[in-house]
Amino acid sequence: MSDYQSSKTRWVRINLGAIAHNVAQVSRVLRPGVKLLAVVKADGYGHGALQVARVALAHGASMLGVTHPEEGIKLRESGITAPILVFRPLLPGEEEVALEYRLTPSLSSFEQAKLLAEAARRRGIRVAVHWKIETGMGRTGFTPASFKDCLDQLLALPGLIWEGIYTHFAAAAGDREFTYHQFHQFVELLESLESKGIKFPIRHVCNSAATLLYPEMHLDMVRVGTLLYGQLPAGIKDSPVTLRETWSFWTRIIHLQRASRGSTIGYGRTYRIPRDTVLAILPVGYHDGFGVDVFPRPAGLIDLAKILAKIAGSYFGLPWGSFYVQVNGRYAPVVGRVGMELTCVDVGTIPDVSVGTPVLLPSRRTVLSETIPRVYEESQVVTDIPEKDEKIF
Ligand SMILES: *Cc1c(COP(=O)(O)O)cnc(C)c1O
Repeated sequence: MSDYQSSKTRWVRINLGAIAHNVAQVSRVLRPGVKLLAVVKADGYGHGALQVARVALAHGASMLGVTHPEEGIKLRESGITAPILVFRPLLPGEEEVALEYRLTPSLSSFEQAKLLAEAARRRGIRVAVHWKIETGMGRTGFTPASFKDCLDQLLALPGLIWEGIYTHFAAAAGDREFTYHQFHQFVELLESLESKGIKFPIRHVCNSAATLLYPEMHLDMVRVGTLLYGQLPAGIKDSPVTLRETWSFWTRIIHLQRASRGSTIGYGRTYRIPRDTVLAILPVGYHDGFGVDVFPRPAGLIDLAKILAKIAGSYFGLPWGSFYVQVNGRYAPVVGRVGMELTCVDVGTIPDVSVGTPVLLPSRRTVLSETIPRVYEESQVVTDIPEKDEKIF
């Protein structure tokens, strides 16, 4: 094991203590009595669904959220007993596993509800469900009108426990008006159901952004992912919570090499060395999601100007056009193109660099090979990723 550890060249460090801290921070801003559903889909946003689930449940979450039934099954098989809400609609036939593993399905159509009710009847059990209402995300759920239209048919289905009802915001961080529009549609539906005597113990609408921005929308529960993983939703600047970084991507220098002024580096010879220096080779590349960035549509002219300036900077080899890794706490620019599995950085001005020195990569968590091992830390705070990295991407 120790040999394996020392020969490891890429790893992700996950700070479970930071996740616990973030869960506690989120709990602090909830209105009294509001439950927390910890979203652990996509393998806990790359942190490991099981590890995150355990920490979140130990620190006050009362429900977990996943996209696929398979994710819920894995958690059950690892001993998680808390309720697990499955966000996506079940495919016909998946009712059986949902029941077997005591998952809580989200229902988006009468057909799904009917299949689930039949499966529950065959087993002689009742199943808690959450009705998904579509108010503007445009993906899944009953529209308020279609829910009212088939209400009598839905009520006639045996075996379903009407535990929850929810909707999902499309632009909670950025579009106040639209968020209120979605919320009002949802509340109107609730009121109309209440007037018929139908009440739900768990009504929920807030994701991370809405949890921070709209306490009046907390209702009975919030569904939080992003914040637990130490990130503020894009577009939110002032936050009532202080979050800790939970995830960092590391590698080691596998080779050091002198390079002289005028020589070129990497594929396409896109980079020419401006002065004699020392280069470090890192065993990471776009295969690991390193250097891969999704260019979103610029949010405005200033944003567009920043992106263009960065591209121009990188063309002229200016420092703010590069992106950086950290070696011994100092920044080293990536030089030349990032390859599939190798990257080159300039460490000419950094002291005490040798083969094997760990390197902190400024990688977003979006794209990452599943073969990279994760190392869990319980309590320490991993080197907080400095602000500079945020700007780089
Ligand atoms: C992913 C997801 C969330 C969590 O969103 P964050 O912005 O990461 O907090 C909440 N609800 C549903 C239905 C989701 O799919």
